[in-house]
Amino acid sequence: MRKVMITMNWMVLALLALAMTAVAQQSASAPQNPQPVAATQPAPAAAQPGRAPSNLAAPTTMDQVVDRVILREKDLIKFLSPRTPIVETYLQDLTQDPQLGPIPHDDHYFLGRMDLSESIDRSDYLEGKGKDKDEGMEKHLLGGITKKFKFQYQPLGFSWMIFVDRNDFDRQHYDFRYVRREFLGDVRCLVFDLTPKKDAGRGRFLGRIWVEDQDFSIVRLNGTYARPSRNSYYFHMDSWRLNLIPGYWIPAYIYSEEGDFTAGAKNKIAFKAQTRMWGYNLKTTTANDELTNIRVDSVKDDTPTAQDATPLAAEREWQQQAEDNVIERLERAGLLAPEGDVDKILQTVVNNLEITNNIELPRPVRTRVLTTSPLETFSVGNTIVVSRGLIDVLPDEGSLAMVLAHELAHIVLGHNLGSQYAFNDRMLFSDEGTYQNLGFKHIPEEEAAADKKAIEMLKASPYAQKLDSAGLFIKALQARAPQLSALLQAHLGNNITENGTVTRMVQLGDSAPALDWNKLDQIAALPLGGRVKLNPWDDKVEIVKAQPVAITSVRDKMPFEVTPFFPRLTRYSTASAPAATTAAASTTTATANASPTPAN
Ligand SMILES: [Zn+2]
Repeated sequence: MRKVMITMNWMVLALLALAMTAVAQQSASAPQNPQPVAATQPAPAAAQPGRAPSNLAAPTTMDQVVDRVILREKDLIKFLSPRTPIVETYLQDLTQDPQLGPIPHDDHYFLGRMDLSESIDRSDYLEGKGKDKDEGMEKHLLGGITKKFKFQYQPLGFSWMIFVDRNDFDRQHYDFRYVRREFLGDVRCLVFDLTPKKDAGRGRFLGRIWVEDQDFSIVRLNGTYARPSRNSYYFHMDSWRLNLIPGYWIPAYIYSEEGDFTAGAKNKIAFKAQTRMWGYNLKTTTANDELTNIRVDSVKDDTPTAQDATPLAAEREWQQQAEDNVIERLERAGLLAPEGDVDKILQTVVNNLEITNNIELPRPVRTRVLTTSPLETFSVGNTIVVSRGLIDVLPDEGSLAMVLAHELAHIVLGHNLGSQYAFNDRMLFSDEGTYQNLGFKHIPEEEAAADKKAIEMLKASPYAQKLDSAGLFIKALQARAPQLSALLQAHLGNNITENGTVTRMVQLGDSAPALDWNKLDQIAALPLGGRVKLNPWDDKVEIVKAQPVAITSVRDKMPFEVTPFFPRLTRYSTASAPAATTAAASTTTATANASPTPAN
């Protein structure tokens, strides 16, 4: 029997789930001795989890350490070469608001697969249209933008910043200067400043690297590329890696920022961008193994006595088959996280809505998380899908209930989409073709009906008293929508806005209190990255564990904005596979006080 959890707050639930995981992990790791956080002397690289499988003796001089760093980096490049992770860059162009500080005035979104085999190449999930179309500019520009005709962001540039130097990371091209030891999270690091040698050529890394002090893998790089050509500009980056599998630190996050808002500055470029990599463990699909890989789903015969399906039962099985096909295909393309703890939180909210509204459905409603940043939801069969970015920016459980109620209303009203995907031939496409081959957009009449039904359900639910915050979220979205068209462009479901105007659940916005950026205790929407953490290796999502940081000025709010990354680095341990906590942005009440380190 399901129970109503009326009083249970979303975050409390999340913390509970995490506490349970922690207990489980503790008991699992109890027999082992805890490893010292940072051994002064590198221990023999034998059977320790997270250690590189090498038999090399511990270096005794700094020169030997540098040799090892170079060796480890080349080893990582080789290790990653057969892989084709997903790379997503979300960029906000900034303008100076006298009161709010730098705020977004336009945005750009790139999503693709990186091919790390020979050099670094990428193929995009998004069709070559709209404002971010690649107009045949210098495609292979590293980490920068071209300014031949106008400023043009190069998605490949962001991808490039995962390695120091793909081809020539060695003593012939770089000078290494040891700076000091420093902890990043739980990991003690050696810090080096890198400068390219005089004749090293263009596009060489200039900046600082952090190297963990057991195997000497690079865990963070912060700087830029030196000597741009006349028609290009290299931007600054802060690139982080996570120890998600034994022996390797996997590139996970890159933060980039440009812009000078000091008095009298005349720099035309001002933006901040987050690049995330995931799907390292995805299968590479070629046209050939596409056909052998495809799993033809058959409907399970789980009825106790074999019986023929009535026409209605057949219709439902058909929809179930379509739903299973779509979910499986999206997961295989790296666009849907495997089922996990975040789903349990979403499902509890759905249950609360269902029970208080006496909704009885023939099959349970499931929820899943899209791994991408743009704010979107859709449902296929009885599965509700919500994007990672949307969960990030929702301020509380009431606003989450609003989002889920709209999709639940579609299901309750029988607005089924996607039954065409019960035909398995329609699942035969390349991962990059996902957005061209799948779509779950309702007609405007169904959208209006779902909004109406959703508000009815919310008013009869435990969330009836919490709809002010949901309405404030709609208002904040409306205030920023004209500047955030890329973040608000849905790729599979219905848009939440049309031409800069919010179209979903507007009634709740109308009845909400006035939006006031100056009120420090009014948090209408959160920055991106503050809620959901995505594991780049296995695509699992979990709720970020972060202490709330008090908001002290209106500029701390940063609704819908990107912020720097500051993951808490930890070494891989067999007891807990996801090995890092992103304190990238914020929690319910606040924004982490993390400012980008200037590269100099
Ligand atoms: Zn809808």
